[in-house]
Amino acid sequence: MTTTTSIRKGGSWLLEETASSDVFTPEKLTDEHRLMAQTTTEFVDSEVLPVLDRLEQKDWQLARTLLKRCGELGLLGIAVPEEYGGLDLDKASSLAVVERIGPSASFATTFGGQANLTILPLVLFGTPAQKEKYLPRLVSGEIVGAYALSESGSGSDALAAKTRAVRQADGSWLLNGEKMWISNGGFADLFIVFAKVDGEQFTAFIVERGFGGLSSGNEEHKMGLHGSSTTPILLQDARVPAENVLGEIGKGHKVALNTLNYGRFSLGAMCAGGAQAAIADAASYAASRRQFGQPIASFGAIKHKLGEMIARTYAVESLVYRTAGLIDAALVGSAHNGGAVAQAFEEYAVEASIAKVAGSESLDFVLDENVQIHGGNGFVKDYSAERYYRDARVNRIFEGTNEINRLLIPGMLVRRAIKGEIPLIPAARRLQDEVLSPSVRAATGSDDQVLTDEMRTIAAFKKVALMVIGTAMQTYGEKLTDQQELLGYAADILMDTYAGESAVLRAQSAVTADPRRSDLHIAAARVFVHDAGLRIEGWARSAFSAMSEGDTLRTLLAALRRILKVTPVNTVALRRTLADAAVAEGKYISRL
Ligand SMILES: Cc1cc2nc3c(=O)[nH]c(=O)nc-3n(C[C@H](O)[C@H](O)[C@H](O)COP(=O)(O)OP(=O)(O)OC[C@H]3O[C@@H](n4cnc5c(N)ncnc54)[C@H](O)[C@@H]3O)c2cc1C
Repeated sequence: MTTTTSIRKGGSWLLEETASSDVFTPEKLTDEHRLMAQTTTEFVDSEVLPVLDRLEQKDWQLARTLLKRCGELGLLGIAVPEEYGGLDLDKASSLAVVERIGPSASFATTFGGQANLTILPLVLFGTPAQKEKYLPRLVSGEIVGAYALSESGSGSDALAAKTRAVRQADGSWLLNGEKMWISNGGFADLFIVFAKVDGEQFTAFIVERGFGGLSSGNEEHKMGLHGSSTTPILLQDARVPAENVLGEIGKGHKVALNTLNYGRFSLGAMCAGGAQAAIADAASYAASRRQFGQPIASFGAIKHKLGEMIARTYAVESLVYRTAGLIDAALVGSAHNGGAVAQAFEEYAVEASIAKVAGSESLDFVLDENVQIHGGNGFVKDYSAERYYRDARVNRIFEGTNEINRLLIPGMLVRRAIKGEIPLIPAARRLQDEVLSPSVRAATGSDDQVLTDEMRTIAAFKKVALMVIGTAMQTYGEKLTDQQELLGYAADILMDTYAGESAVLRAQSAVTADPRRSDLHIAAARVFVHDAGLRIEGWARSAFSAMSEGDTLRTLLAALRRILKVTPVNTVALRRTLADAAVAEGKYISRL
């Protein structure tokens, strides 16, 4: 199973043009990918969604049974080498699966705790003996895993953990401490626990509940995800054999960060799947609910909501598929061993953070509008809109809060630029010389395909991003990390740029890949890019105003006006087109 993307460095999309033929999209899924997706959809629709109420009553035996079913269907072993019971498939396959698991929210968290947070770190960092001992039983769902990083005093600042590990005379370890908010905590058999050796060296350990000294606290009373177990984990002289250090002593941050790199990408995909399901729900409800003698779907205000829900989801879906294609391309020809996979995830860490933040925020927007479209019914438990709305809120908090990820997005790019890994600094300098010349024009673009105006606008977004980052680096130098608000503006501009370009490139390729619905692809991409232009202009103005004044500020704002010209578009009509299509079919557009 291969995707068609060529190898590119992470973040290079900001500095280079990309051809639509070079981007992986949902329309390019192979038959094998589609079979995995269909298997997952059937499992979720027939075996998970009907029992969500029982899961919400903390029936963890049922959660175990469902994980076992996932094992039987092969869903837990997609990224696992065959010798350990897995299928060793590409990231596009993983994406197709997690996107379909997404709508089950609570169970998606249970699944993620197993596949992304336990199986994955073992694949990436386990020794052959550790893999042989644990992976087959995790992949089959026979045992359940959990990832214990956070503590009450160290969430975002995870490396400040207080849990201690002390080596014993026989080489084994004694762990003491308390972890907080651990998914699958109430019933997991195996934990990836992070602790500091002698209070200093941050290290990952593989801890079986059966070793003794590890116990679960009470279930947290949460706003949502009631069908997912979340508990503290107490470690009181928990004895861990010498051979159960995961990775190297003192290198636990590598295990934690690489796991999160993939977890963020995967969460973005789950969010895209959740949004697609909510759009189907909203569209069906709008078609059947009548007020003033007609379906509410006929009202412009409702069409606007549906159209916007679709455009934002389209952009997120496009960017997660594009990122999966990039990771897969980086892995072509590699041994798919832990090191190569970890390196590929690290390469696309910026894109993974974008997927997480854009996915979770876009999903929250969609679910909020879904409640609104349901009116009073959206606020009561008889309808799923209420549950989805509560369940999704945590996506902006775990796997690194969105604030932390917003700092990471431009922060990682700047670090790479300083190391010379991507030519961001010369590009920003060239642009600076160029913007001082009043003749500077908006970007060029080829006229031989659809969405050429939008491609020019995207090229302008990239210039604006470079101007903001370049000016910020010049103004603050090494102290840029203290300017969180500026980094936040830069992150927002970068996210809309990557999302907008991914949407446009996908819509361009849909002319041949999905001709019957290419007008819908084009409408979604145009709406997103048009509104992103207005947002980006606002963020850039705020950023420039915060770091300059007087003539310098006037010059920057004049350059911004020259570079960023957003072509007026009738987004009202385009949103109506999108909404009408979804209402007619009762589905999100790419599932028609
Ligand atoms: C349902 C659920 C399941 C979870 N599952 C797991 C799990 O399986 N394993 C696990 O290890 N953890 C898990 N967590 C914990 C989760 O990862 C943390 O809650 C998260 O990392 C945030 O940490 P915190 O709660 O301590 O918030 P804090 O770090 O205290 O953050 C509070 C606020 O301050 C902001 N902030 C913090 N630092 C900075 C900074 N440097 N700059 C700017 N803003 C900042 C944050 O963005 C946030 O808005 C789970 C949490 C929940 C709610």
